[in-house]
Amino acid sequence: MLEEAQKHLTYYFGHPDFRPGQRAVLERVFANQNSMGVMPTGGGKSVCYQIPSLLLSGVTLVISPLISLMKDQVDELREAGISATYINSSLSQEEVRSRMDNIHMGLETLVYIAPERLEAPSFLRMLQRLPVSMIAVDEAHCLSQWGHDFRPSYRRIPELISSLESSPVVLALTATATPQVTSDICRELSIDPGAVVQTGFSRENLSFAVEKGVDRDAYILDYIRRDPEASGIIYCATRKEVDRIHGHLVKNGVSCGRYHGGMDQEERRSMQESFVYDDTKVIAATNAFGMGINKSNVRFVIHRNMPRTVENYYQEAGRAGRDGSPSRCILLFSPQDVQIQQFLIDQSQMADERKQQEYSKLQQMLHYCHTEDCLQNYMIRYFGDHPDQPCGRCSTCVDDRSLEDITKEAQMVFSCIRRMGERFGKTMVVQVLTGSSNQKLRDLGFHRLTTYGLMKGKTQKDCAQLIDFLAASQYLYLSGGAYPVLKLGEAVIPVLKGETRVERKTVRTSPAAQPVED
Ligand code: ADP
Ligand code: ZN
Repeated sequence: MLEEAQKHLTYYFGHPDFRPGQRAVLERVFANQNSMGVMPTGGGKSVCYQIPSLLLSGVTLVISPLISLMKDQVDELREAGISATYINSSLSQEEVRSRMDNIHMGLETLVYIAPERLEAPSFLRMLQRLPVSMIAVDEAHCLSQWGHDFRPSYRRIPELISSLESSPVVLALTATATPQVTSDICRELSIDPGAVVQTGFSRENLSFAVEKGVDRDAYILDYIRRDPEASGIIYCATRKEVDRIHGHLVKNGVSCGRYHGGMDQEERRSMQESFVYDDTKVIAATNAFGMGINKSNVRFVIHRNMPRTVENYYQEAGRAGRDGSPSRCILLFSPQDVQIQQFLIDQSQMADERKQQEYSKLQQMLHYCHTEDCLQNYMIRYFGDHPDQPCGRCSTCVDDRSLEDITKEAQMVFSCIRRMGERFGKTMVVQVLTGSSNQKLRDLGFHRLTTYGLMKGKTQKDCAQLIDFLAASQYLYLSGGAYPVLKLGEAVIPVLKGETRVERKTVRTSPAAQPVED
């Protein structure tokens, strides 16, 4: 079967051979084993169901939330000589019925459907009459509550699968899945955890960078001006922010588009098209932009604001460089963004357990901004994989500052937190260490601690940054909701005993280039 599949790959798609992940997935599909493929954006997930649709006897259903992409995908497939169709809310009742008839007659073997369609019992009944041999669940993380894009209609999928008499083989596909999300998907779709195929999350052509303390608007303007031909996305946290930065760029003579959910549909459609066809090089957008945009030559993605989770960040940043050419993903960090995200979680209607989960994800996003580890590797680890060597491209890897032994300072921080009973947040710890005369601190008697004022020579900001670094390096962790308290991790013990040393890249004393804006 694989040999046959390979011939089809060359004949229809022009690729000489499968990528390793594709091969592993197809082996499982052809052995009629449910499986899951976790591959990075641009990794070639679609081949994993498109090829089986040519070889399996019945219909291959692809469930995908990317309605805007369906038509283009199907058109492309048809051009390549593959009979495919789609069913989503953009079609009239009549059109749906006529397409279903064609599917019944065996004229179409690859059928894309939007998950929302599964909410309609009449549609489910229609599907039940089809000889479905395979179900591919695209963007499968939408199935998990813990994913960053949970969609209730995805919950209908297990129901659909069990109602089909043809007992189809199931394939789940996603680019972003933490171990928890993966295990959710496996449970819901009856996939043996051993049948999860994970190809490296690493994107060899992307270089990640975190920029702190820069004037963000000036940075963006300057970046675009340096390479006006490059296509790029500037993600902002809010619609207002998009409008503002868009105005700022236009005022400074940069041609730039904008995209967010507050614009009317027609405006959004034409903006998207203009970007995809390279008429607009740069677009300022909220995260409403991107899902379902198939543009391969995006050379940079700049986040003006920090997203809430690493999943979000990796997915949004990952829209750069799908063509494999070198591309940059830059996150402009400001502590303010953390407060905003925290506030949004606080104000949300989520259940408490869910809020805790979100806080912890936010913490890990924050750690990404402070880590001195390879940025690519940080994310690979986040997704449960084990990178073997630093990427050599990210802002940490190319940072040639020398390592400084900060064991003594780290010990001061750890013992201070311990003496304060691991019951206080960063601000209070910083105040004690720098010997602040704050009244609350005195009321608590912390001015009598032996660690009080140990870091008198440091500014509160430097001291706070040291703590951020220790947290990002997993020595410390934050626990509990909106006002998290600092706790000591296990790695602290050997440091306090003097058995291991803590090292850090030499700290820059003056902030890079521009003044801090906020
Ligand atoms: P994903 O859905 O994982 O983001 P796609 O399925 O859109 O990725 O594929 C990304 C790109 O990789 C496409 O341009 C596709 O033609 C190409 N591709 C897929 N499989 C192969 C292969 N085996 N060899 C070479 N290129 C491939
Ligand atoms: Zn790196």
